[in-house]
Amino acid sequence: MNIAKIDYDLIIVGGAVSGGIMAALSGQSDLKIGIIESRVHDPEQPDPRVFAITRASEQVFRSAGIWDELESQPMGHFREMEVWDANGSGSIHFDSKSLCEPTLGYIIGNQPIQNALIKVIAEMDNVRWLCPEKVDQIEVQTDHAEVFLDSGKRLKSKLIVGADGAHSRVRELVGIDSKTHDYQQTAIVCSVKSQIAHHDVARQRFLTSGPLAFLPLADPHVCSIVWSTTPDQAQVLCDMPADNFHRELEEAFDSKLGRVLETSRRFSFPLNRAHAKNYVSNRVALIGDAAHRVHPLAGQGANLGILDAATLAEILLKNTDTDIGRFPLLRKYERQRKGENLSVIATMDGFKHLFGSTLEPVQWLRNFGMDLANSCPPAKKIIMQKAMGLKGDLPELARTPNFL
Ligand SMILES: Cc1cc2nc3c(=O)[nH]c(=O)nc-3n(C[C@H](O)[C@H](O)[C@H](O)COP(=O)(O)OP(=O)(O)OC[C@H]3O[C@@H](n4cnc5c(N)ncnc54)[C@H](O)[C@@H]3O)c2cc1C
Repeated sequence: MNIAKIDYDLIIVGGAVSGGIMAALSGQSDLKIGIIESRVHDPEQPDPRVFAITRASEQVFRSAGIWDELESQPMGHFREMEVWDANGSGSIHFDSKSLCEPTLGYIIGNQPIQNALIKVIAEMDNVRWLCPEKVDQIEVQTDHAEVFLDSGKRLKSKLIVGADGAHSRVRELVGIDSKTHDYQQTAIVCSVKSQIAHHDVARQRFLTSGPLAFLPLADPHVCSIVWSTTPDQAQVLCDMPADNFHRELEEAFDSKLGRVLETSRRFSFPLNRAHAKNYVSNRVALIGDAAHRVHPLAGQGANLGILDAATLAEILLKNTDTDIGRFPLLRKYERQRKGENLSVIATMDGFKHLFGSTLEPVQWLRNFGMDLANSCPPAKKIIMQKAMGLKGDLPELARTPNFL
């Protein structure tokens, strides 16, 4: 390859959680990296997005050098999880103590993660933020790919990583198909102050219209909620006065945490599932929501993107002295991640349909199944380990040393 022609070894399009982790990990080499991000990050701007972060993602954050920064700020974590069905008496309870682990996972805002990533990347001489810049066109040649930005700049790189989210321009430009399914649900997200303390328990109630999750934040009386429901009901809930919303929320949540005292501004997100036919093509790889999108009912979306980034970065870090954009190397990444992601997407879909059914035999079966699983510690252990990201084909950068 004519090295003089190349501006970067690696160009990452999208600097949110997946792209940021990709840069922070692969920047720990002498690769020359550019991150192209269209949105200027404002650390003061309120961001409603909160992620339930698995233990595997915690480990990736440690590998990326952002964990200490995140831990130095107030952070929610959940030691236990309670899930129950609104139509029946079935329930299941998970406790980190049964695994001799201090916690099942963490609840961390998108904003602190973004701030920590920007800080760590700013200290890397070989990584450059190009922001605000937007990718408009891509041309792929045998030995490099060229990115055309809205600003008129043209940049050549050995490899382009599309971390540009659900409506990925990179995916579209290189002609990778993505199969999308509209769940006909909208999620309402806001923070909620409740009368009763959450005691670091994550709770989810399955209503026929969709799941309602309360994720415990650092303040013992404040949770972030994700309420998935029909688009029409979501519109009504978003538009109603606060007092009415509080009453609706108490009822939907079985008053599990007593009265709802205060709520923040409500944000809504339409929900759909998507999966790209391929994660890689010549000199291009897709990670995060650009490759797949899942229902938020088990809080796995960002975690999958973090594992994509860790897997791809690990492969690149082991091959920095070769052409990192070559197809067989990228296929290795695809083989490692596609099956894992597909199984999570299928599981989320299964839950969504199982709990959305109003058929009596299905309702009976799911309540029976939950109670059965709840009374079977080995089954619960396997479910917990999987949900915490402690089992499966994990990259070394995501492995918890004491666990595996
Ligand atoms: C209601 C809800 C709750 C959720 N809860 C959880 C949870 O608890 N746990 C969890 O793991 N996941 C959760 N998720 C999923 C999670 O939000 C996403 O999976 C995650 O944010 C995707 O991150 P990403 O970096 O892949 O993509 P994005 O966050 O979409 O980032 C893409 C970036 O690319 C940039 N970009 C786009 N196009 C261009 C372009 N042409 N040029 C340059 N830049 C571009 C954008 O500005 C953006 O910064 C939830 C999702 C929803 C909707």
